[in-house]
Amino acid sequence: MSARARDIRQRTGQPYQKSAETRTRMSLAQRRRFNAEGTLEEQLLRLTKKTRGCWLWQGRTVHGYGRMGKNYKVHRLAYELWVGPLKDGHHIHHACGTMLCVKPLHLVQMTETEHKDAHRQLH
Ligand SMILES: [Zn+2]
Ligand SMILES: [Zn+2]
Repeated sequence: MSARARDIRQRTGQPYQKSAETRTRMSLAQRRRFNAEGTLEEQLLRLTKKTRGCWLWQGRTVHGYGRMGKNYKVHRLAYELWVGPLKDGHHIHHACGTMLCVKPLHLVQMTETEHKDAHRQLH
C-alpha cells in the first residue's frame, strides 16, 4: 500500500478511494483515467465472476493470489471493502479453500498463528 493510500485510510476510514477533495486537485488527464478505471471496488467487481459458491477473481495473479494494480492482493482488498479494516500483521484466510475467491463471507481475518493452525487442521 502506498503511503498516500495509508494516509487516506487513516484519515477518512475510506480505504483506497480518492476523496472528493483529492479528485478536484487531479489534472484533467488524471481525472479521465480515474473515471475510466472507476473505483477500486468497481475494478474488482469487473474482473470477478460470481458463482453460486465463490466469487472468482479472473484477473492477474502472482503466486496464485489475485492482484490488482501494483500491489493490491484482491482478497485483502475485498475484505477491506466489504467486511472491515485489516489489522496490522493479520492474515486473510479463505474458509472455502479457493485462493482466488473474493466473496466476503468466505474471507476470515486471523492472526498468523491462528492461520497456521487453520491450515494444519485442513491438511
Ligand atoms: Zn469462496
Ligand atoms: Zn489460509
